[in-house]
Amino acid sequence: MEVTLAIVKPDGVKRGLIGEILKRYENKGLRLKAAKVVTPSIELLEKHYEEHKGKPFFKPLIEYMSSGPVFAMVLEGENAVKLVRMINGATKVEDALPGTIRGDFASSTTYNVVHGSDSVESAKREIALWFPELIL
Ligand code: UDP
Ligand code: MG
Repeated sequence: MEVTLAIVKPDGVKRGLIGEILKRYENKGLRLKAAKVVTPSIELLEKHYEEHKGKPFFKPLIEYMSSGPVFAMVLEGENAVKLVRMINGATKVEDALPGTIRGDFASSTTYNVVHGSDSVESAKREIALWFPELIL
């Protein structure tokens, strides 16, 4: 069964959106396999976002993501990677449609409430980073 990593980012946790967001994933039939509340280290975040190293938003992104606790979760289900991306909504704030988490709750491309792995390969890599103890 496919698994993916989803994260409620620090702005989402501060705004009390963990329950609302988890409900949307569960409503779509995704099952929670593992979860934790953690303030991620800079080291973990630089690995997590290594594809964006050197881009202008990289440093602010790492600062934002390390600014407080996040809710990281492993979700399982058929097409889990694609479903979470669809429920999360588009990256650009002006493209995130109403009905998606970003469309409903984000007003900035940077502070956009949630993360979702972008492929099965990324999901494997990210789950190993965030949940090294997890045996799937
Ligand atoms: N981001 C940003 N400015 C941009 C693009 C992305 O601040 O122009 C941030 C935003 O928080 C995004 C994260 O960097 O979620 C990772 O970017 P990516 O393109 O991987 O978007 P995602 O996969 O999260 O939709
Ligand atoms: Mg991405």
